[in-house]
Amino acid sequence: MNDIFDLHGHHALVTGASSGLGQHFALVLARAGADVALAARRVENCEQTAAAIKALGRRAVAVEMDVTDAASVGAAVDTAIAALGPITILCNNAGMAITKRFLDMEEADWDKVLDTNLKGAYLVAHAIARHMAAHGKGGSIINTASVLSFGVAKQLSSYMASKAALMHLTRAMATELAQNNIRVNALAPGYIETEINRDFFKTEGGKAVIKRVPQRRLGQPEDLDGTLLLLASDAGRYITGSAITVDGGHSVSPL
Ligand code: NAD
Repeated sequence: MNDIFDLHGHHALVTGASSGLGQHFALVLARAGADVALAARRVENCEQTAAAIKALGRRAVAVEMDVTDAASVGAAVDTAIAALGPITILCNNAGMAITKRFLDMEEADWDKVLDTNLKGAYLVAHAIARHMAAHGKGGSIINTASVLSFGVAKQLSSYMASKAALMHLTRAMATELAQNNIRVNALAPGYIETEINRDFFKTEGGKAVIKRVPQRRLGQPEDLDGTLLLLASDAGRYITGSAITVDGGHSVSPL
């Protein structure tokens, strides 16, 4: 039987690839056969992952990209295409959060989170979708949403607004881009242990959050591998406009 998750012949671009989930996603896509462009503001932080991908026999290139800056996005996309060829998979993953009570939040906090998580995701998806529509091979765009695209947590209002809007943008893009053979979906993780939250989950507050997860543990980046490959590959060929939640049951647990 052919491996319907196989990604040989695909070229992927991953944003926020210098750390956490993005770094992991780049390796997972490469292990499945894809060549990968790793996009980050600090390109030097991608070099080790790029070397690991090359050691797998795949091509890899690290490109400098600030997702909030349209010129930077355009230049990075051009560099990635020049290095790898037509991009057929986008992991639109760069993101950030500012944890503050709503009353304490400043306009600059709101702008930073929305500019990165929503406008940034739009800028990258738009550049890549135009490219995919032009090369005619189709493609898969995977937006990293969150369980907070749907549910609510305290002190994360700007983050929740950005991730909820990203989910609806995912649906809107899916409906318009299907005619170009481009699928657009969201991967919605629960709490996944990365450097950004590792210290928090060692605190009493963090341990209390883990107790509310039905599987009684934090997610690990590897827990997202199957969903990522499903959405990226031919295995997911009839999936578009969807969100797949990967959260150990957190978002459906009773209060
Ligand atoms: P992380 O901080 O390790 O990764 C975020 C990446 O985005 C970093 O590499 C950062 O440099 C990059 N980034 C931020 N602003 C950028 C910009 N302007 N231009 C380019 N890159 C920029 O955290 P992570 O946990 O790996 O998060 C990755 C994605 O997953 C984010 O979108 C986050 O919202 C989402 N997410 C994470 C979790 C979790 O529990 N870890 C849960 C749900 C969703």
